Amino acid sequence: MSDGCRLGCCTPEVAALPVGGWTTSDKGWKLDDRRREHVAREWREKSAQIDRMQADYPKCKLCGQAALRLDVAGLCSKIDEVHKAYRVRLGLPAVPAAPVPQRGRR
Ligand SMILES: [Zn+2]
Ligand SMILES: [Zn+2]
Repeated sequence: MSDGCRLGCCTPEVAALPVGGWTTSDKGWKLDDRRREHVAREWREKSAQIDRMQADYPKCKLCGQAALRLDVAGLCSKIDEVHKAYRVRLGLPAVPAAPVPQRGRR
């Protein structure tokens, strides 16, 4: 059963540390050594989750960036020179048109 630590790596004593084992001093924030493994695990879990989410997103043809939506050229929404040049070569506006705002609201 969970007695504080969701990932099962901390003793109940360590899991009960205030602020997750972080303490602050005049030198800034410091993490209790016994919490390092936990924070590292949590971070790996989080980034794996983000990777899984982004795996479902379409990828920009140019920079490989996963985006919620690609424009008609198949690119992400970046507007640096490379992305602009690619759109222009396809005869598209260099900067994708902004979504049309909804009308009739007041
Ligand atoms: Zn833990
Ligand atoms: Zn891109």
